[in-house]
Amino acid sequence: MTPATLALRCLLLVVSLCAAVPATAATLQGLRVVHQETVQLYLDLDQTPVDTRVFTLANPSRLVIDLAESSINTDLSGHDFPKGAVSRVRHGVQDGQHLRIVADLRGQAVPEWRYLQRKNSSRLIVDLGLPGNPELNALSSQITHTEPNAVVRAVVSEPLRDVVVVIDAGHGGKDPGATGRRKTKEKDVNLAIARLLYRRLDAQPGITPRLIRHEDVFVPLRERLELTRKMEADVFVSIHADAVPHKRASGSSVYALSLTGASSETAQWLVDNEHSQELFGEVTLDGLSADLKETLLELAQHNTLEDSIHLGGIVLRELSAIGKVHKPTVESGNFAVLKSPDIPSILVETAFISNPSEEAKLNKRGFQDAVARAIQTGIVRYLYERAPPGTRLAARQ
Ligand SMILES: [Zn+2]
Repeated sequence: MTPATLALRCLLLVVSLCAAVPATAATLQGLRVVHQETVQLYLDLDQTPVDTRVFTLANPSRLVIDLAESSINTDLSGHDFPKGAVSRVRHGVQDGQHLRIVADLRGQAVPEWRYLQRKNSSRLIVDLGLPGNPELNALSSQITHTEPNAVVRAVVSEPLRDVVVVIDAGHGGKDPGATGRRKTKEKDVNLAIARLLYRRLDAQPGITPRLIRHEDVFVPLRERLELTRKMEADVFVSIHADAVPHKRASGSSVYALSLTGASSETAQWLVDNEHSQELFGEVTLDGLSADLKETLLELAQHNTLEDSIHLGGIVLRELSAIGKVHKPTVESGNFAVLKSPDIPSILVETAFISNPSEEAKLNKRGFQDAVARAIQTGIVRYLYERAPPGTRLAARQ
């Protein structure tokens, strides 16, 4: 950014701040300096401010965070950090309603920032792009302990975790799924591909895969959901093979979570008739019950559908590289198994088991592994862009 555009931006900021009438002010409730592979500032607010500006100043090196129409319920003044990229954090209030946070830096930061929105809170994560020093975590916990009431903590030790990818092999046990003309059972093909995907993801640093079923057992849909929750999934992928009466249909499809309701009737209907084309389509919020609407709005707030569609799109691209794609875009289906509100979820129809040549392919180890590799690559690409905060993959970004 040139000085001229910076000046213009500042001017625009001043103008917009003067014109703004605070509707509901955001309150900064805590700030943390977190050392991972890079240094990050976590600013915890009760809601996302109406406007946020993050920029750096040189000589001495500083990071400035302007939060419009925001206040603070703690005191950041004069908090010193003897080591690490951040030496000091302070704040000021402009016009009695706009909050400015200034961090004095050791080093020239190239900041990137984003909000992580929750139901009743919002976290601004500013990545300084400066190398972190995990050893400072131990030092900082001490600072935290000697000042139990301080909202500002020098560094909080947050060990990085793996991203958990839950792999769901569709059907199983008494539920064979679709059956091909040569008697190939969908449940077996699904499990074979799920296991190959498991092995591939397990070899990937920063990812812990989990299988919903390891063998030929029946797992009810509701239980699959509960297991996914218990496994603390970050990403969920369900593996199936398609079937239609018309034997020429071919190619793979990917479905993302849909905003339709998951009633038990839907789940039952799904068991009876999972691959019906009538299942899909755009659905509005009209006519849904109040609590379902609330759930759906929460979903929208978490951007999960967007995440699911994005993930699905990447996986579909990978699948198109190894074979035919049945539909060129990600569909949203109301499969009950995809109803985990805050977990990006996709369902992959690997191929048509009802198509004799695709049935033959589905039985071949080479094809099964090619599908597994395409899904693996898609998931990894997705995580490269959107790994959940606090994970090793996010720290690497
Ligand atoms: Zn299926």
